[in-house]
Amino acid sequence: MNRKQACRMFWSSFLISSALWIIICFILFAVFGCAHNPYLKTDSNQHARQCVLPVMVGISEGMPEELVDATRRAIQYWNTVDSRKYFVSLGVQPWGADDPMSGGFVPIQLVPAESLWDLGLATCGNASMIIRNASGCIRRAKIKIADKCTGSIEVFETIVRHELGHVLGLKDNYLDWNAVMSAVAAEGIQEHPVDANPQELKALRELYGP
Ligand SMILES: [Zn+2]
Repeated sequence: MNRKQACRMFWSSFLISSALWIIICFILFAVFGCAHNPYLKTDSNQHARQCVLPVMVGISEGMPEELVDATRRAIQYWNTVDSRKYFVSLGVQPWGADDPMSGGFVPIQLVPAESLWDLGLATCGNASMIIRNASGCIRRAKIKIADKCTGSIEVFETIVRHELGHVLGLKDNYLDWNAVMSAVAAEGIQEHPVDANPQELKALRELYGP
């Protein structure tokens, strides 16, 4: 091997190893850099959470009976995921989600689908909250569910569970389509309501203690 060949060999192996490292870095970034963070955060990067448990939840008048039952089940579901009592159901209440009188509890109201828009897309549910920036305490919350998303009771119950997950401080999941906090409901999960996945349960333990 003369000098020229050695030089060429050095540079080609240098380029190949650099390319390999760039590929490895991309893979590591894809795995760890984009991993789902399950927490809702305030502007000051605090984890948002309920500072007083259990949270009172009411169902706004006007919801058909079978949906009221499914909503009650969704509220109770969160009380079964660990040893904590997260919610107390106040049953059906005469006040809508935007009524100032509903300030003492988290109202869950069925609303026309056209009134629920998120990022320019019609959505099935929405939880809006007032979160104290300094403490991360969620002060008020209200939940609206689109009337078009009531075709399947199981899916409806999953949507209510999902919105209540936000009220506890969990964020939308864009990576796992089978999580209760999944931003989009996966096809084929309509036989039963979706449960919280291990990451979501771990996040609750981190927020509310073991
Ligand atoms: Zn969501």
